Amino acid sequence: MSASASWIARDAAAVWHPFTQHATWTADDPTVVERAEGPWLIDVDGRRHLDGVSSLWTTTLGHGHPEINAAIAAQLAKLDHSTFLGTTHTPGIELSEALIALAPKSDDPELTKVFYAGDGSSAVEAALKIAYQYSAQTGHPRSRFVRLEHAYHGDTLGAVAVGGHELFHEAYRPLLLETIGVPSPGDRALGPDRGAVADARLRSVMGEHGDQVCAIIVEPMVQGAAGMLDYDAEFLRTARELAYATGALLIFDEVATGFGRTGRMWAAEHAGVVPDLLVCGKGITGGYLPLSAVLAAEHVYEAFLSRPGDRAPRTFFHGHTYTANPLCCAAALANLRVMGEQDVVGQAARLGERLGKLLEPVAAKDGVVEVRRLGTMIGVEVAPVGDRTGFRVCQAARDRGVWLRPLSDTVVLMPPLTLGETETEFLVDALDAAIDEVCA
Ligand SMILES: *Cc1c(COP(=O)(O)O)cnc(C)c1O
Repeated sequence: MSASASWIARDAAAVWHPFTQHATWTADDPTVVERAEGPWLIDVDGRRHLDGVSSLWTTTLGHGHPEINAAIAAQLAKLDHSTFLGTTHTPGIELSEALIALAPKSDDPELTKVFYAGDGSSAVEAALKIAYQYSAQTGHPRSRFVRLEHAYHGDTLGAVAVGGHELFHEAYRPLLLETIGVPSPGDRALGPDRGAVADARLRSVMGEHGDQVCAIIVEPMVQGAAGMLDYDAEFLRTARELAYATGALLIFDEVATGFGRTGRMWAAEHAGVVPDLLVCGKGITGGYLPLSAVLAAEHVYEAFLSRPGDRAPRTFFHGHTYTANPLCCAAALANLRVMGEQDVVGQAARLGERLGKLLEPVAAKDGVVEVRRLGTMIGVEVAPVGDRTGFRVCQAARDRGVWLRPLSDTVVLMPPLTLGETETEFLVDALDAAIDEVCA
C-alpha cells in the first residue's frame, strides 16, 4: 500500500472536510500533502504538484519563503499570543499602519482604521455588523443589504445572506437576513449588455429602498467563486455614487482580489473607487496563517465614538479570541515588506499577461466555452456542462503534475504571484493536455 493510500484510509475514518462530498471523497483519490517548496506541493509519496490555485487563492510568494518563515520564528521567540481586547501589541500596530499606507486612496472616504478578524467570512461578518450599527448611530437603523446575484462572501450566516451562489447558499435561505439581490454585471446569461442591466437594476433598487439599505456589498471587478466572472469598472462607480446619494455604505469584499491578485494591489484601483469598508483576507499573510481585516473609513470609525448624553455606548461589541494574533501579524508584515521590495504587484501583472497569451490557443479549443481573466485570477470554463467536466480536467492535470480545483465547470488558475516562466508554461501545458484528454 502506498503511503498516500494508508493516510487516505485514516483520513476517511476521522476527518470531515470542508465543501466535500464524503460519499465520493476517497474514490476521487485525494492528494495527501506533506511538504511544500515555492510553488510546489509534495505529497507523502514524494510526487510534486504545481500549486496552480495558490492553496485556495492564498499563497502570494510561494511556500516556505525564507523571510516569512523567519518573521514567524522571530515573533514566536518574542510573543506567541496576547489578546487585542484591552491590550495591544507591536506587530498589530505596525501591520495596521502598513495596511493603511497601502489602502486605496481618496479624500472622501479615507480608509484610516483596521479591524481584524480570522478568516474572510468573519471579516465580512464584522463589516455587515459595522454597517448596520453605523446606520443606527448616524440616522435610523437600516437593516437591508444590497448584494449581487452569484456573489460569494463566505460561509457564516451573515456572509451567506449576502451571497448569491445557487449551489452553496440556497439550502440556508430560510435562516438568513433579508437582502435585496441585484443581477451581476458579470453574469454572461444577461448577454453583452449585462453591465447596463445590472446598473439599471441597482439604480432602481436604491431609488426605491435606498433609505432602508445600510450597505451595498460587492466583490469588486470579479466574482471569484462564481467562476471568475469579471465585469466592467463602471458598475462600481455607479455603486459608489448611489451609496453616497442614499447614505448607505459601500463594502468591497477584496478577500480574493486583494494583495496583488488582479495585477493591482486592490481591485478597487481598476475602478478608481474607494469603499467605506474594505474587507481583505486570503493573501494577507502570504498564505501562511489565518488573518483577515476590515479597513474602515474615518467617518465610519467616528460614528462609533461615544458622546456625552448617549443612552447606550457606541462601542462595536464584536471580536474574537485570536483577533490580531501576533504570529499572523508578523507573517503579514513580512509578506507586505517583500511584496513592496520586489514589486510583486508588478510581477503579478506581468504573470497575468503571460498567462493570458499562453491561454489564447486554449481559449480557441472546442471544449472551452470561455477564458476569463483579471490579472492572475483566471477561469477556464469547459464543456460539456454538468458531467463533472471541470473536476475531470483537474484530475487529468494532476496526472501531469499540476494541482487545480474547479468551480463547477470552470477550471481556476490562480498561481502564486511570483511564478517563474518555466513553471507558468508547465501549468498551461498541463491544462492544455488535460482539456484535450477530457473534452475531446
Ligand atoms: C474566500 C472568500 C471569502 C471567505 O473567506 P474565508 O477565509 O474562506 O472565510 C469571502 N469573500 C470572498 C470574495 C472570497 O473569495
